[in-house]
Parts: sequence; C-alpha cells; structure tokens
Amino acid sequence: ERYIYVLQMSEAVLCAVRIRPQLGQDFQPSFWNVNNNMISKDAESYTFEHVFDQLARSEVVFDKMKPLVDGTLQGVNASIMAYGQSGSGKTYTLTGDRLQDGIVQMGIKRVFQKIEKSNRTFALRMSICEVYNEKIYDLIGNGEDLAVRESGVGSIHVEGLTETPLTDLSCVEKIVDASIRRRNTGETSRNERSSRSHVLFIIHIESRSNSSNRFLCSSLCIVDLAGSENALLSQGSRLTEGKFINKSLLALCKVITQLSEKQSHIGFRESKLTRLLKPSLSGNSRVVIIATVDVRAVTETSSTLKFAKCAV
Ligand code: ADP
Ligand code: MG
Repeated sequence: ERYIYVLQMSEAVLCAVRIRPQLGQDFQPSFWNVNNNMISKDAESYTFEHVFDQLARSEVVFDKMKPLVDGTLQGVNASIMAYGQSGSGKTYTLTGDRLQDGIVQMGIKRVFQKIEKSNRTFALRMSICEVYNEKIYDLIGNGEDLAVRESGVGSIHVEGLTETPLTDLSCVEKIVDASIRRRNTGETSRNERSSRSHVLFIIHIESRSNSSNRFLCSSLCIVDLAGSENALLSQGSRLTEGKFINKSLLALCKVITQLSEKQSHIGFRESKLTRLLKPSLSGNSRVVIIATVDVRAVTETSSTLKFAKCAV
C-alpha cells in the first residue's frame, strides 16, 4: 500500500536564489541590489521565496530544503535543482568542496538521522549519472549511453545504471567524491564538460512499517544542471554540442513552464533529462529550484531570474 500525496504544482515548486560571494581578487562592483527577498537593477525587480545573500552558508540554504527531504521519508518525491550560469555556484551549492558539505551530503545525512529515530525499516540506494550530449553516463559504474525506459506508473528505469546500497555515511562520501572526480576527467577539459552536462544524484528510499506491511517508496533527486548560458544557441564549431545541450536544458525550461501553467500536455519525452526527471516532476512530488547568480553579470543574471520567476 502506498500513500499518495497529490500536490498542485503551484504549491510544489519553490524557487530560491543564491548569490555567489565575490571571491578574492576578482572583486567587481555589483550591478544588482539585494533587499530581503528582492533583487533589483534599475527598473527590473524580482521577488522570491528566499534570497540567500553572499554571506549565507550552505547550511542556511539547506535549512529551507529540509521539509522536502523529510517528505521523501513519507513517500513524497522531491527534486532539488541548481540552475544558473557557469561559475555561479551550482556545484558548490550541491556538492560543496573540501571544507563545506553541499546539499547532497547534508540531505543524505538528514535522511540517515531521521531513519534512526523512525519505527520503519528503510533501504536506501543511490545512483549518480551524467547527461552529456543526450547520452546518459553512469558515474558509479561504467555504463555509457544508457537507455531510459518507463516502467509502470510514474517510475523510470535506466537500463544498467548502478544502484549502490547506502549503508552508512562514510560510504556515501566515498561514492559522491568518486563520482565528482569521474565527472571531471572526461576527454574534454573539466570546465567544458561540466558546464555542458547535467549530473543527477538520485537517492531511492524504500521503507516498510515495523508493525504492518505498509510499504513506501520515493526518490530524492538532486540535479546539477548545465550552465544556463547553454540554453542559448551556441556558435561556430560547438554548434552540434550546443544544440544537444540546448535540447535537455530547453526541454526542462519548457516542462517547468508547462507545469506551472498547468498545461495538459507536458513535454517530458523531449529530452533525456526530462525523461529522467519525470517521476520527480509529476504528480506526487515537490520541486525546489535554486537559481545561482553572479551579481556582476547583468544579462545572465537577468535571464536566470526570469527563468526562476516563470517556474513559480
Ligand atoms: P558552477 O557549478 O555554477 O559552474 P561552481 O560551483 O563551480 O560554479 O563555483 C565557481 C567557483 O566559485 C568555485 O571555485 C566555487 O568553489 C566557488 N564558489 C561558488 N559559490 C561559493 C560560495 N557560496 N562560497 C564560496 N565559494 C563559492
Ligand atoms: Mg559546476
């Protein structure tokens, strides 16, 4: 037996903005003003549920994601996506660095903490994959160009994608660190590839009540999206690659708009990314978009904020 929570998309999508701090020597004046939950520049102004300023630590960002993470233990899917131009802090926010955990590590830690106090029995599995040029790569195992199949109601299966059981926190760290290293060692240079690919951290959560046979299953999907500059048409020799990247990122932008406008047709099938995200974006699920911005950039910040605004 499953509990199904059907949420309206308007309640289910939450948009937050995180402003990247100015680091070291690259200090330049900001073109944007931040005032509580409003960001503005001249006549343009945008208000969001949360705006995390340059001083906000990742723990503070994660604080607002806790209800979503907790919901996954009760069978409600959740997805957390970082959207923004390259260099604006998507990867830092989601996976941190040597000194700072990201949303992925904090999310899994919280799941473990909650499970310890629960009167249900849990089984956790994790997959990590990268979508690059409309191909799915396994970042835990060795699979390349994996196929996506729809299996049953609202569930997606990626053929051959590794699902590693998560037993304790130390194994999580190893898996996540190894996948980050693998993302960075493609044939293309680190920045090239990571600005053009999407990485999905998928945690499958299954549980059974200790007193009855009630079974719940859900997923927490954390997505480090390609740089938002790739949503625009690329030029010159990179045209083909750019076109492919466009396909997934543009399809996602369209799907999110269609969902927020409650349209009857949602174009999940149009790209690999949206096919993978279908369970996390439809029906029984909650979504957070963290729009990361670098306030020194005028045009990209403006387009990121516009996208984030249209998603709510
Ligand atoms: P993106 O993934 O959007 O391309 P990154 O997360 O790689 O951007 O961030 C670019 C650089 O800025 C990295 O060196 C990262 O460590 C640093 N950085 C981003 N956000 C923060 C932050 N909030 N605090 C400290 N350093 C940050
Ligand atoms: Mg990145």
